[in-house]
Amino acid sequence: MRSMKFCPKCGSLMVVKVINNASVFYCPRCGYKVDVIKNSVFLKKSVSFEKRVEKREEIAVDIPLGAIFVESIVCPKCGRSGVYYWRKQVSSAESSDTIAKTYKCSSCGYTWSELE
Ligand SMILES: [Zn+2]
Ligand SMILES: [Zn+2]
Repeated sequence: MRSMKFCPKCGSLMVVKVINNASVFYCPRCGYKVDVIKNSVFLKKSVSFEKRVEKREEIAVDIPLGAIFVESIVCPKCGRSGVYYWRKQVSSAESSDTIAKTYKCSSCGYTWSELE
């Protein structure tokens, strides 16, 4: 599939032209030129953005189904708000019904818990 590019100045469809042994997008209407290489750098950037999104999903893997997302809780490690929260029953020798509250930061993955 051929990539299509529109002129940022006038909005016309640009064509690929070879000028000084370099491929450029050339606007036949106003003469605006954009380096094709610059355009591929932009594509690389969007790939690394996709990788970042994947990383966020990795964090979400060990969050149980009953977890609630609480926007107002701030992560003590990275300081960003938006933390997953869930409760789990913990059986110990002293009491049989201790509830452990677990928090997991959606930004950095930092996990901490406290007993109810
Ligand atoms: Zn143009
Ligand atoms: Zn965090």
